[in-house]
Amino acid sequence: MNLTRFPRVRLTHAPTPLEHLPNLSRHLGGPEIYIKRDDATGLASGGNKTRKLEFLVGEALSLKATHLITHGATQSNHVRQTVAAACKFGLGATALLEERVAGASPDYYGSGNVFLDRLFGATLETRPPGLDLNAECAVVAERLRAQGERPYLIPGGGSNPVGALGYVVCAQEIVYQANDLGLPIACVVHATGSTGTQAGLVAGFEGQNSHIRVLGISVRAAKDAQEENVYRLAKQTWELLGIRGELPRATVEANSDYVGAGYGRPTPGMVEAVTLAAHFEGLLLDPVYTGKGFAGLIDLIRKGHFRKGENIVFVHTGGSAGLFGYRDAFGFADGLPHP
Ligand SMILES: *Cc1c(COP(=O)(O)O)cnc(C)c1O
Repeated sequence: MNLTRFPRVRLTHAPTPLEHLPNLSRHLGGPEIYIKRDDATGLASGGNKTRKLEFLVGEALSLKATHLITHGATQSNHVRQTVAAACKFGLGATALLEERVAGASPDYYGSGNVFLDRLFGATLETRPPGLDLNAECAVVAERLRAQGERPYLIPGGGSNPVGALGYVVCAQEIVYQANDLGLPIACVVHATGSTGTQAGLVAGFEGQNSHIRVLGISVRAAKDAQEENVYRLAKQTWELLGIRGELPRATVEANSDYVGAGYGRPTPGMVEAVTLAAHFEGLLLDPVYTGKGFAGLIDLIRKGHFRKGENIVFVHTGGSAGLFGYRDAFGFADGLPHP
């Protein structure tokens, strides 16, 4: 697949490492777990949105935009990476933060990603839950246009066909690294939300005939809805790439058993997954996405879903900055006693 016809900026420290997790693999006693370190993409503490932003900001600059507008939950990693990218390219940035997690701690509203958004100088506006945030962004765009700006709208999670190209690139990287290491991959597992990551991976792996299964662990929507949404975007991405034939529906597989009470709401499985990754590998996961995704992987391993000896790649999509918005979920809200 040739991506050179798409406008693109470079933001990612690519290829990100593909690393073995020997201690966790041994502890869980199932397949060999590898991790694709997209938490180490390099921009503003990293994450999966950086790959999407290479193509989104590329398009924005090709349209001579002066200002990026996007939206997300209060602790959005997508917003943090978008406003950092805006700084790097001299663009203004406005983000609408949706109050999606009721009853959260003060850290949630002030630390973690919110602190970093402010450090990057973004204009932040809050919104109650349940609005059409793309429509809200369109209103902000009108306002900015009246002030002489040329705004570029980025949907939630950067998930449209242009953004998903970033994960086509990641699929190419993973296949290249697997060949380089002589590593047969049985399955790629990751947390799925706004769908761009899974759509890009599926289109990218299938477009290379790689026969690598992708399993998305949902952090929000029910299985059927998530699969439909991923498939729709994966097909659009497939068409944007101009790949012949039709993308098979069976390439899209999601599991929504690990959402818990809802998006951004801690679960015992998430706390266990984040704690195990920290204790066994010195690795930081996050409370909203990779913690739940990895909790799903751990549970599926314990249920014998994967064979011993086969290789599973977990795509670490980033988000550790969000940990600082969730100290209370780990029982550390109080801090140490000090003299
Ligand atoms: C946004 C995000 C995801 C989900 O990716 P989508 O492309 O929105 O499905 C996973 N992990 C982290 C840390 C994220 O910030």
